[in-house]
Amino acid sequence: MAQATKILIEHQCPQCGAPATLEETDRLFTCTFCRVKSFLTHKGFFHYLLPHAPKGEEEPVYLPYWRLKGILFWSMQTGIKHRIVDVSRQAATSPHFPVSLGLRSQTMKLRFVPPEAEGRFLKRDMAADELKTTVKGSFLTGIADSVFEHALIGETPSIIYAPFYIRSRVHDAVLNRPVSDVLPEDFKIESHTDSHPDMEIRFIPALCPRCNWDLEGERDSLVLHCRNCRTLYQAGNGKFEPIRVAHLPESDKDCVFLPFYRVEADTSGILLRSYADLVTNANLPKVIRKEWENLPFHFWSPAFKVRPESFLRFARTLTLSQPQTRLVKGVPNGILHPVTLSIAEASEGLKINLASFIKPQQTMLPRLKEIAVKPKKAVLVYIPFHESGTDLSHPHFQLRINKHLLRYAKNL
Ligand SMILES: [Zn+2]
Ligand SMILES: [Zn+2]
Repeated sequence: MAQATKILIEHQCPQCGAPATLEETDRLFTCTFCRVKSFLTHKGFFHYLLPHAPKGEEEPVYLPYWRLKGILFWSMQTGIKHRIVDVSRQAATSPHFPVSLGLRSQTMKLRFVPPEAEGRFLKRDMAADELKTTVKGSFLTGIADSVFEHALIGETPSIIYAPFYIRSRVHDAVLNRPVSDVLPEDFKIESHTDSHPDMEIRFIPALCPRCNWDLEGERDSLVLHCRNCRTLYQAGNGKFEPIRVAHLPESDKDCVFLPFYRVEADTSGILLRSYADLVTNANLPKVIRKEWENLPFHFWSPAFKVRPESFLRFARTLTLSQPQTRLVKGVPNGILHPVTLSIAEASEGLKINLASFIKPQQTMLPRLKEIAVKPKKAVLVYIPFHESGTDLSHPHFQLRINKHLLRYAKNL
Protein backbone atom coordinates (compact mmCIF):
# COMPACT_ATOMS: atom_id res chain seq x y z
CA MET A 1 0.00 0.00 0.00
CA ALA A 2 1.35 3.42 -0.91
CA GLN A 3 2.06 5.72 1.98
CA ALA A 4 0.65 9.22 2.13
CA THR A 5 3.20 12.00 2.23
CA LYS A 6 4.60 13.26 5.49
CA ILE A 7 4.89 16.98 6.08
CA LEU A 8 7.40 18.42 8.53
CA ILE A 9 6.90 21.65 10.42
CA GLU A 10 9.59 23.96 11.78
CA HIS A 11 8.61 25.06 15.21
CA GLN A 12 9.85 26.84 18.31
CA CYS A 13 9.15 25.80 21.88
CA PRO A 14 6.50 28.21 23.23
CA GLN A 15 8.30 28.13 26.60
CA CYS A 16 12.02 28.55 25.81
CA GLY A 17 12.11 29.24 22.07
CA ALA A 18 14.29 26.24 21.24
CA PRO A 19 13.90 25.05 17.64
CA ALA A 20 12.14 21.78 16.92
CA THR A 21 10.73 19.82 14.00
CA LEU A 22 7.21 18.47 14.23
CA GLU A 23 5.30 16.01 12.13
CA GLU A 24 1.91 17.21 11.01
CA THR A 25 0.19 14.57 13.13
CA ASP A 26 1.97 15.73 16.32
CA ARG A 27 -0.25 17.13 19.04
CA LEU A 28 1.73 16.67 22.24
CA PHE A 29 5.05 18.51 21.95
CA THR A 30 7.81 17.81 24.47
CA CYS A 31 10.69 20.29 24.26
CA THR A 32 14.05 18.48 24.33
CA PHE A 33 15.67 21.51 26.02
CA CYS A 34 13.30 22.68 28.75
CA ARG A 35 11.26 19.44 28.93
CA VAL A 36 8.03 21.44 29.02
CA LYS A 37 5.13 19.60 27.42
CA SER A 38 2.53 21.49 25.48
CA PHE A 39 -0.49 20.47 23.47
CA LEU A 40 -1.32 22.00 20.08
CA THR A 41 -4.84 23.06 19.29
CA HIS A 42 -6.40 25.37 16.74
CA LYS A 43 -9.63 27.13 15.97
CA GLY A 44 -11.06 24.98 13.23
CA PHE A 45 -7.94 24.11 11.23
CA PHE A 46 -4.17 24.22 11.38
CA HIS A 47 -2.73 26.94 9.12
CA TYR A 48 0.77 26.51 7.71
CA LEU A 49 3.02 28.71 5.66
CA LEU A 50 5.31 27.53 2.89
CA PRO A 51 8.46 29.55 3.64
CA HIS A 52 10.42 31.47 1.01
CA ALA A 53 13.39 33.83 0.89
CA PRO A 54 12.09 37.23 -0.28
CA LYS A 55 13.99 38.35 -3.43
CA GLY A 56 12.14 41.37 -4.73
CA GLU A 57 10.48 44.46 -3.32
CA GLU A 58 6.98 43.17 -3.86
CA GLU A 59 4.71 42.21 -1.06
CA PRO A 60 4.19 38.46 -0.98
CA VAL A 61 0.68 37.26 -1.77
CA TYR A 62 -0.36 34.04 0.00
CA LEU A 63 -2.89 31.78 -1.65
CA PRO A 64 -4.52 29.24 0.70
CA TYR A 65 -4.54 25.59 -0.35
CA TRP A 66 -6.48 22.83 1.37
CA ARG A 67 -4.51 19.77 2.27
CA LEU A 68 -6.58 16.63 2.70
CA LYS A 69 -5.29 13.24 3.70
CA GLY A 70 -7.29 10.14 4.43
CA ILE A 71 -8.84 7.00 3.06
CA LEU A 72 -11.78 6.97 0.70
CA PHE A 73 -14.07 3.97 1.19
CA TRP A 74 -16.89 3.12 -1.18
CA SER A 75 -19.46 0.37 -1.27
CA MET A 76 -20.30 -1.47 -4.51
CA GLN A 77 -22.06 -4.72 -5.35
CA THR A 78 -18.66 -6.43 -5.35
CA GLY A 79 -17.78 -5.24 -1.85
CA ILE A 80 -16.18 -2.28 -0.09
CA LYS A 81 -13.19 -0.72 -1.84
CA HIS A 82 -10.74 1.87 -0.59
CA ARG A 83 -7.86 4.04 -1.66
CA ILE A 84 -5.53 6.65 -0.20
CA VAL A 85 -6.39 10.29 -0.70
CA ASP A 86 -3.53 12.76 -0.36
CA VAL A 87 -4.32 15.97 -2.22
CA SER A 88 -4.00 19.73 -2.15
CA ARG A 89 -6.54 22.03 -3.76
CA GLN A 90 -6.98 25.78 -4.07
CA ALA A 91 -9.00 27.03 -1.11
CA ALA A 92 -9.36 30.43 -2.82
CA THR A 93 -10.50 29.76 -6.35
CA SER A 94 -8.50 31.61 -8.98
CA PRO A 95 -7.66 30.72 -12.59
CA HIS A 96 -4.37 32.63 -12.29
CA PHE A 97 -2.77 30.47 -9.60
CA PRO A 98 -1.69 26.80 -9.73
CA VAL A 99 -4.58 24.45 -8.97
CA SER A 100 -2.60 22.47 -6.39
CA LEU A 101 0.61 22.74 -4.40
CA GLY A 102 2.24 20.01 -6.45
CA LEU A 103 5.25 18.48 -4.78
CA ARG A 104 6.41 21.59 -2.95
CA SER A 105 4.77 20.88 0.39
CA GLN A 106 6.42 17.47 0.47
CA THR A 107 9.98 18.67 -0.01
CA MET A 108 10.00 21.73 2.24
CA LYS A 109 9.49 22.26 5.92
CA LEU A 110 6.40 24.29 6.71
CA ARG A 111 5.81 26.75 9.54
CA PHE A 112 2.75 27.69 11.51
CA VAL A 113 1.64 31.13 10.35
CA PRO A 114 3.35 33.55 12.77
CA PRO A 115 1.16 36.36 14.18
CA GLU A 116 3.55 38.97 12.71
CA ALA A 117 3.55 37.42 9.21
CA GLU A 118 3.77 40.10 6.54
CA GLY A 119 2.10 39.94 3.19
CA ARG A 120 -1.33 39.68 1.72
CA PHE A 121 -3.38 36.61 2.66
CA LEU A 122 -6.09 35.71 0.20
CA LYS A 123 -9.54 34.81 1.40
CA ARG A 124 -10.64 31.18 1.48
CA ASP A 125 -13.82 30.65 -0.53
CA MET A 126 -14.10 26.87 -0.38
CA ALA A 127 -15.44 25.24 2.80
CA ALA A 128 -14.00 21.99 4.16
CA ASP A 129 -17.21 20.07 3.41
CA GLU A 130 -17.21 21.31 -0.15
CA LEU A 131 -13.59 20.20 -0.48
CA LYS A 132 -14.45 16.69 0.69
CA THR A 133 -17.39 16.47 -1.71
CA THR A 134 -15.26 17.68 -4.64
CA VAL A 135 -12.42 15.29 -3.84
CA LYS A 136 -14.77 12.31 -3.43
CA GLY A 137 -16.45 13.22 -6.71
CA SER A 138 -13.17 13.37 -8.61
CA PHE A 139 -11.97 10.02 -7.24
CA LEU A 140 -15.24 8.26 -8.07
CA THR A 141 -15.62 9.73 -11.57
CA GLY A 142 -17.01 7.15 -13.96
CA ILE A 143 -18.21 4.70 -11.29
CA ALA A 144 -20.51 7.01 -9.30
CA ASP A 145 -23.64 5.24 -10.62
CA SER A 146 -22.63 1.89 -9.16
CA VAL A 147 -21.51 3.29 -5.79
CA PHE A 148 -24.04 2.81 -2.98
CA GLU A 149 -22.21 4.75 -0.30
CA HIS A 150 -18.87 6.47 0.19
CA ALA A 151 -16.92 7.95 3.08
CA LEU A 152 -13.68 9.86 3.43
CA ILE A 153 -12.04 9.24 6.79
CA GLY A 154 -8.74 10.67 7.94
CA GLU A 155 -7.21 13.86 9.17
CA THR A 156 -9.07 17.09 9.68
CA PRO A 157 -8.04 19.09 6.59
CA SER A 158 -5.45 21.84 7.04
CA ILE A 159 -4.62 25.03 5.17
CA ILE A 160 -1.22 25.68 3.58
CA TYR A 161 -0.46 29.21 2.40
CA ALA A 162 1.89 29.34 -0.61
CA PRO A 163 3.72 32.59 -1.46
CA PHE A 164 3.48 34.37 -4.82
CA TYR A 165 4.37 37.77 -6.28
CA ILE A 166 2.13 39.70 -8.61
CA ARG A 167 3.89 41.36 -11.53
CA SER A 168 2.41 41.32 -15.02
CA ARG A 169 2.02 37.63 -14.27
CA VAL A 170 1.68 35.64 -11.07
CA HIS A 171 5.13 34.50 -9.93
CA ASP A 172 5.78 31.58 -7.64
CA ALA A 173 7.89 33.05 -4.82
CA VAL A 174 9.46 29.71 -3.89
CA LEU A 175 10.53 28.66 -7.37
CA ASN A 176 10.95 32.30 -8.48
CA ARG A 177 9.26 31.92 -11.82
CA PRO A 178 6.03 32.95 -13.51
CA VAL A 179 3.13 30.52 -13.20
CA SER A 180 0.35 32.37 -15.07
CA ASP A 181 -0.34 34.04 -18.39
CA VAL A 182 -0.22 37.81 -18.51
CA LEU A 183 -2.85 38.99 -16.05
CA PRO A 184 -5.92 40.79 -17.41
CA GLU A 185 -5.98 44.55 -16.86
CA ASP A 186 -8.93 44.36 -14.53
CA PHE A 187 -7.17 41.85 -12.24
CA LYS A 188 -7.32 43.23 -8.71
CA ILE A 189 -5.79 41.26 -5.87
CA GLU A 190 -7.34 43.63 -3.29
CA SER A 191 -10.82 42.20 -3.73
CA HIS A 192 -9.61 38.73 -2.69
CA THR A 193 -7.71 39.80 0.39
CA ASP A 194 -8.57 38.52 3.83
CA SER A 195 -7.93 41.45 6.17
CA HIS A 196 -8.32 39.46 9.36
CA PRO A 197 -7.30 35.88 8.72
CA ASP A 198 -7.96 33.82 11.85
CA MET A 199 -5.08 31.38 11.93
CA GLU A 200 -4.23 31.26 15.57
CA ILE A 201 -2.80 28.07 16.95
CA ARG A 202 -2.60 27.60 20.66
CA PHE A 203 -0.33 25.72 22.97
CA ILE A 204 -1.89 24.59 26.18
CA PRO A 205 0.46 23.41 28.93
CA ALA A 206 -0.08 19.63 29.16
CA LEU A 207 -1.15 19.70 32.80
CA CYS A 208 -4.23 18.21 34.41
CA PRO A 209 -6.78 21.00 34.92
CA ARG A 210 -7.92 19.33 38.14
CA CYS A 211 -4.68 18.34 39.93
CA ASN A 212 -1.92 19.96 37.84
CA TRP A 213 -0.23 16.58 37.29
CA ASP A 214 1.66 16.07 33.99
CA LEU A 215 -0.67 14.70 31.34
CA GLU A 216 0.61 11.70 29.42
CA GLY A 217 0.22 10.62 25.83
CA GLU A 218 2.09 9.78 22.65
CA ARG A 219 3.06 12.65 20.38
CA ASP A 220 0.10 12.05 18.07
CA SER A 221 -2.50 11.41 20.83
CA LEU A 222 -5.70 13.39 20.59
CA VAL A 223 -6.52 12.37 24.16
CA LEU A 224 -4.24 12.78 27.19
CA HIS A 225 -4.23 10.85 30.45
CA CYS A 226 -3.87 12.04 34.04
CA ARG A 227 -2.66 9.04 36.02
CA ASN A 228 -3.26 10.86 39.27
CA CYS A 229 -7.00 11.39 38.86
CA ARG A 230 -7.39 8.55 36.33
CA THR A 231 -9.11 10.85 33.85
CA LEU A 232 -8.78 11.26 30.09
CA TYR A 233 -8.90 14.71 28.55
CA GLN A 234 -9.31 16.11 25.11
CA ALA A 235 -8.64 19.70 24.11
CA GLY A 236 -11.61 21.80 23.13
CA ASN A 237 -12.03 25.59 23.13
CA GLY A 238 -8.44 26.04 24.24
CA LYS A 239 -8.73 23.94 27.39
CA PHE A 240 -8.77 20.31 28.45
CA GLU A 241 -12.13 18.71 29.05
CA PRO A 242 -12.70 15.28 30.62
CA ILE A 243 -14.24 12.63 28.36
CA ARG A 244 -16.47 9.63 29.04
CA VAL A 245 -14.46 6.41 29.21
CA ALA A 246 -15.27 2.74 29.78
CA HIS A 247 -13.47 -0.54 29.28
CA LEU A 248 -13.87 -4.28 29.14
CA PRO A 249 -12.29 -5.64 32.33
CA GLU A 250 -9.14 -7.77 32.11
CA SER A 251 -7.00 -9.38 34.82
CA ASP A 252 -3.88 -9.87 32.66
CA LYS A 253 -1.59 -6.90 33.45
CA ASP A 254 0.41 -7.20 30.21
CA CYS A 255 -2.42 -6.62 27.82
CA VAL A 256 -2.68 -3.62 25.55
CA PHE A 257 -5.93 -1.68 25.54
CA LEU A 258 -7.03 -0.47 22.12
CA PRO A 259 -9.47 2.47 22.05
CA PHE A 260 -12.83 2.32 20.26
CA TYR A 261 -15.83 4.63 20.00
CA ARG A 262 -19.20 3.24 20.92
CA VAL A 263 -21.60 5.51 19.09
CA GLU A 264 -25.28 6.01 19.70
CA ALA A 265 -26.92 7.25 16.50
CA ASP A 266 -30.31 8.19 15.16
CA THR A 267 -31.04 6.22 12.02
CA SER A 268 -33.77 6.84 9.49
CA GLY A 269 -34.67 4.66 6.51
CA ILE A 270 -33.81 1.54 8.50
CA LEU A 271 -34.94 0.32 11.92
CA LEU A 272 -31.81 -0.11 13.98
CA ARG A 273 -32.58 0.63 17.59
CA SER A 274 -32.03 -2.66 19.32
CA TYR A 275 -29.91 -5.79 19.14
CA ALA A 276 -32.99 -7.55 17.74
CA ASP A 277 -33.05 -5.01 14.86
CA LEU A 278 -29.37 -5.75 14.21
CA VAL A 279 -29.98 -9.50 14.04
CA THR A 280 -32.73 -8.83 11.48
CA ASN A 281 -30.83 -6.33 9.32
CA ALA A 282 -27.56 -8.26 9.35
CA ASN A 283 -29.48 -11.50 8.80
CA LEU A 284 -27.54 -13.15 11.65
CA PRO A 285 -28.20 -16.89 12.13
CA LYS A 286 -29.87 -16.43 15.52
CA VAL A 287 -33.37 -16.78 16.84
CA ILE A 288 -34.41 -13.41 18.25
CA ARG A 289 -35.09 -13.41 21.97
CA LYS A 290 -37.67 -11.09 23.47
CA GLU A 291 -35.13 -9.26 25.71
CA TRP A 292 -32.99 -8.34 22.69
CA GLU A 293 -35.63 -5.81 21.73
CA ASN A 294 -34.68 -3.81 24.83
CA LEU A 295 -30.94 -4.09 24.29
CA PRO A 296 -29.91 -0.80 22.61
CA PHE A 297 -27.88 -0.96 19.41
CA HIS A 298 -24.58 0.94 19.04
CA PHE A 299 -22.15 1.46 16.22
CA TRP A 300 -18.52 0.67 17.04
CA SER A 301 -15.45 2.18 15.40
CA PRO A 302 -11.69 2.14 16.00
CA ALA A 303 -10.49 5.39 17.65
CA PHE A 304 -7.00 4.83 16.22
CA LYS A 305 -5.46 4.90 12.80
CA VAL A 306 -5.00 1.50 11.29
CA ARG A 307 -4.89 0.08 7.78
CA PRO A 308 -8.21 0.38 5.92
CA GLU A 309 -8.88 -3.40 5.83
CA SER A 310 -8.38 -3.60 9.60
CA PHE A 311 -10.43 -0.47 10.22
CA LEU A 312 -13.41 -2.03 8.47
CA ARG A 313 -12.94 -5.46 10.05
CA PHE A 314 -12.72 -4.03 13.59
CA ALA A 315 -15.72 -1.75 13.10
CA ARG A 316 -17.83 -4.52 11.59
CA THR A 317 -16.88 -7.27 14.05
CA LEU A 318 -17.48 -5.16 17.15
CA THR A 319 -20.73 -3.71 15.81
CA LEU A 320 -22.00 -7.24 15.13
CA SER A 321 -20.82 -8.42 18.58
CA GLN A 322 -22.25 -5.43 20.53
CA PRO A 323 -19.86 -5.98 23.48
CA GLN A 324 -21.69 -3.74 25.90
CA THR A 325 -23.05 -5.88 28.66
CA ARG A 326 -19.72 -6.23 30.48
CA LEU A 327 -18.57 -2.61 30.19
CA VAL A 328 -17.02 -1.00 33.26
CA LYS A 329 -16.79 2.78 33.71
CA GLY A 330 -13.40 4.48 33.81
CA VAL A 331 -9.84 4.15 32.53
CA PRO A 332 -8.41 0.61 32.65
CA ASN A 333 -5.14 -0.42 34.32
CA GLY A 334 -2.66 -1.28 31.60
CA ILE A 335 -1.02 -0.01 28.45
CA LEU A 336 -3.29 2.39 26.56
CA HIS A 337 -2.90 2.63 22.80
CA PRO A 338 -3.16 6.31 21.75
CA VAL A 339 -6.40 7.75 20.41
CA THR A 340 -5.42 9.11 16.99
CA LEU A 341 -8.78 9.31 15.24
CA SER A 342 -11.28 11.93 16.37
CA ILE A 343 -14.91 11.07 17.00
CA ALA A 344 -15.90 13.39 14.13
CA GLU A 345 -13.65 11.48 11.70
CA ALA A 346 -14.70 8.07 13.01
CA SER A 347 -18.37 9.06 12.65
CA GLU A 348 -17.83 9.60 8.92
CA GLY A 349 -17.49 5.82 8.67
CA LEU A 350 -20.76 4.73 10.29
CA LYS A 351 -22.66 4.18 7.04
CA ILE A 352 -19.77 2.35 5.40
CA ASN A 353 -19.74 0.13 8.47
CA LEU A 354 -23.48 -0.44 7.96
CA ALA A 355 -22.86 -1.23 4.28
CA SER A 356 -20.41 -3.93 5.36
CA PHE A 357 -22.97 -6.02 7.25
CA ILE A 358 -26.54 -5.42 6.05
CA LYS A 359 -28.02 -8.44 4.33
CA PRO A 360 -29.23 -9.58 1.89
CA GLN A 361 -26.91 -7.20 0.04
CA GLN A 362 -28.82 -7.47 -3.23
CA THR A 363 -31.85 -5.72 -1.76
CA MET A 364 -30.28 -3.80 1.15
CA LEU A 365 -27.35 -2.03 -0.56
CA PRO A 366 -29.54 -0.07 -3.03
CA ARG A 367 -31.49 1.22 -0.01
CA LEU A 368 -28.39 2.88 1.50
CA LYS A 369 -29.04 6.15 -0.32
CA GLU A 370 -32.31 6.60 1.61
CA ILE A 371 -30.73 5.72 4.93
CA ALA A 372 -29.39 8.47 7.22
CA VAL A 373 -27.20 7.84 10.25
CA LYS A 374 -26.75 10.73 12.64
CA PRO A 375 -24.36 10.25 15.59
CA LYS A 376 -25.72 11.51 18.92
CA LYS A 377 -23.43 10.40 21.73
CA ALA A 378 -20.17 8.50 22.00
CA VAL A 379 -18.15 6.79 24.70
CA LEU A 380 -14.50 5.88 24.38
CA VAL A 381 -14.18 2.17 25.19
CA TYR A 382 -10.87 0.38 25.76
CA ILE A 383 -10.78 -3.28 24.79
CA PRO A 384 -7.92 -5.51 26.02
CA PHE A 385 -5.76 -7.28 23.44
CA HIS A 386 -3.14 -9.90 24.27
CA GLU A 387 0.30 -10.19 22.80
CA SER A 388 0.81 -13.35 20.78
CA GLY A 389 4.08 -13.28 18.85
CA THR A 390 4.10 -10.23 16.60
CA ASP A 391 0.34 -9.79 16.93
CA LEU A 392 -2.13 -8.35 19.35
CA SER A 393 -5.20 -10.50 19.49
CA HIS A 394 -8.61 -10.76 21.03
CA PRO A 395 -9.64 -14.43 20.76
CA HIS A 396 -13.26 -13.93 21.74
CA PHE A 397 -13.92 -11.39 18.97
CA GLN A 398 -11.46 -13.20 16.68
CA LEU A 399 -9.63 -9.94 16.08
CA ARG A 400 -5.92 -9.80 15.45
CA ILE A 401 -3.50 -7.09 14.37
CA ASN A 402 0.23 -6.90 13.75
CA LYS A 403 1.92 -4.81 16.48
CA HIS A 404 4.37 -3.11 14.14
CA LEU A 405 1.76 -2.18 11.57
CA LEU A 406 -0.33 -0.71 14.34
CA ARG A 407 2.59 1.26 15.75
CA TYR A 408 3.45 2.83 12.40
CA ALA A 409 -0.08 3.38 11.16
CA LYS A 410 0.20 7.15 11.04
CA ASN A 411 -2.26 7.17 8.18
CA LEU A 412 -5.57 5.48 8.35
ZN1 LIG B 1 11.53 24.52 25.55
ZN1 LIG C 1 -5.30 15.00 37.51
